[in-house]
Amino acid sequence: MIYENVSLKKYNTFGLNVKADRLVTFKHEENAIHFFEQNKGIDQKLMVLGGGSNLLFTGDYHGTLIRPEMEGITLEGKTGNDVIVSAGAGVIWDKLVESTVNKGIGGLENLSYIPGLVGAVPVQNIGAYGAEASKTIGKVRAINVTDGTVREFTPEECKFGYRDSIFKGELKGKYLITRVYFRLSTKPKLSLEYGSLKDELNKMGSTSLGNVRKTVINSRIAKLPDPQLIGNAGSFFKNPVVTPSVAEKIKSNYPRAPLFSDPSGGIKIAAGWLIEQCGWKGKRFGDAGVHDKQALVIVNYGNATGLELFELSEKIRISVAEKFGITLEREVEVI
Ligand SMILES: Cc1cc2nc3c(=O)[nH]c(=O)nc-3n(C[C@H](O)[C@H](O)[C@H](O)COP(=O)(O)OP(=O)(O)OC[C@H]3O[C@@H](n4cnc5c(N)ncnc54)[C@H](O)[C@@H]3O)c2cc1C
Repeated sequence: MIYENVSLKKYNTFGLNVKADRLVTFKHEENAIHFFEQNKGIDQKLMVLGGGSNLLFTGDYHGTLIRPEMEGITLEGKTGNDVIVSAGAGVIWDKLVESTVNKGIGGLENLSYIPGLVGAVPVQNIGAYGAEASKTIGKVRAINVTDGTVREFTPEECKFGYRDSIFKGELKGKYLITRVYFRLSTKPKLSLEYGSLKDELNKMGSTSLGNVRKTVINSRIAKLPDPQLIGNAGSFFKNPVVTPSVAEKIKSNYPRAPLFSDPSGGIKIAAGWLIEQCGWKGKRFGDAGVHDKQALVIVNYGNATGLELFELSEKIRISVAEKFGITLEREVEVI
C-alpha cells in the first residue's frame, strides 16, 4: 500500500505528530523486491520504519518510509533440544517472545516486552536483563533497497555490538530486513544474574520460562513509562564504557556509583545514574521531560515537539560532559 502525506503520530512511540511525504507498506517479500527493482537507479530518500520505538523525528520526513508488515512465526526445524524459529519483519517482537515462551522454547524470555517489530531486532541488537538478541540470531534475510536483490546474513556478517550491527554502520539504510531466524532451545540455560531477577523468581517458587517472562514484564512495567500513556523511546542514551582509571576517579568521589566490567576491558557506567547526578530526573519543561522513575528516559507529556525533545537531550549531554567528562552517545536515532 502507498500512502501520501501521512501522519506518523501512530507510527512513533514519542507520539509526535509529524508527517511523511510517502509511506509504503509491504505484506510480502515479493512485493518489496518488485518495488525496489522498479525503483532501481532512481535517486530517492528512503528509510525503513518499524514500530518507531527507537526514533525521534525532529520534523516532517521528506522522502519515502518503507514499512515491512511481513507476518508469520514458523518453526523451521528441531534437532534434539535445539529449535530454529523464524519470524517475519512485521511481527510484533513481544508476540514472538510470548509465542516461544508459551511453547516451552527458551532463549528470548529476558527480552520480553521490548516494543517494536522483529525486523528492527538485528539492527538494534536489542538487549535487556542480561540478554542480547545477537546470542540467539542464526540468520537475517534482507533485500537490498538499491536493486531488489536478496541476501542472507550470518551472525558474523551482522557484526553485532552493544545496541549495534552492520545495519547501523556500513550498511545503514541499504537493506530492508524481511525475516529473522532464531536459534532457541527447549532446554535453555536461563540467564538470571541481572539485578534482582533471581530473588524475584525465588519468591515465585519456580524458575519456569513463563515465570522469567512474568518477572521481566512486571519489572519493566514498574520502571518504564508506557508509550501509550506517555510518549517515549525507552533509554535515550547508551551506557558509556570508560577506562578503568576514569571509573576509579568516579568511584572515589561516588562510592555507590553503578559500575560494571565490560567485555571490552573497560568499565560500563549506568547512563541513567550519570544523568540523575546532574539533577535531571523528573525535570519537566513544558511537555518535554525526564522520567521521574528512570532518568535515562526522555518523555513527551503530550505536545512537545521533536525539536524540544532533542534540545533537552543535548542539554543533558552537555551537563554530563561538564560534570563527569563523559560524552553520552544516543541510543535513539534522531531523524
Ligand atoms: C518503553 C520502551 C522500552 C524500551 N526498552 C528497550 C530495551 O529494554 N532494550 C532495547 O534494546 N531497546 C529498548 N527500546 C527501544 C526499541 O524498542 C528497540 O530499539 C526496538 O528494537 C526498535 O524497534 P522498532 O520496530 O520500533 O524500530 P524503529 O524504531 O522503527 O527503527 C529503528 C531502526 O531500525 C531500522 N529498521 C527497523 N526495521 C527495519 C527492517 N525491517 N529492516 C531494516 N531496518 C529496519 C530503522 O530504519 C531504524 O534505523 C525500548 C523502547 C521503548 C519505547
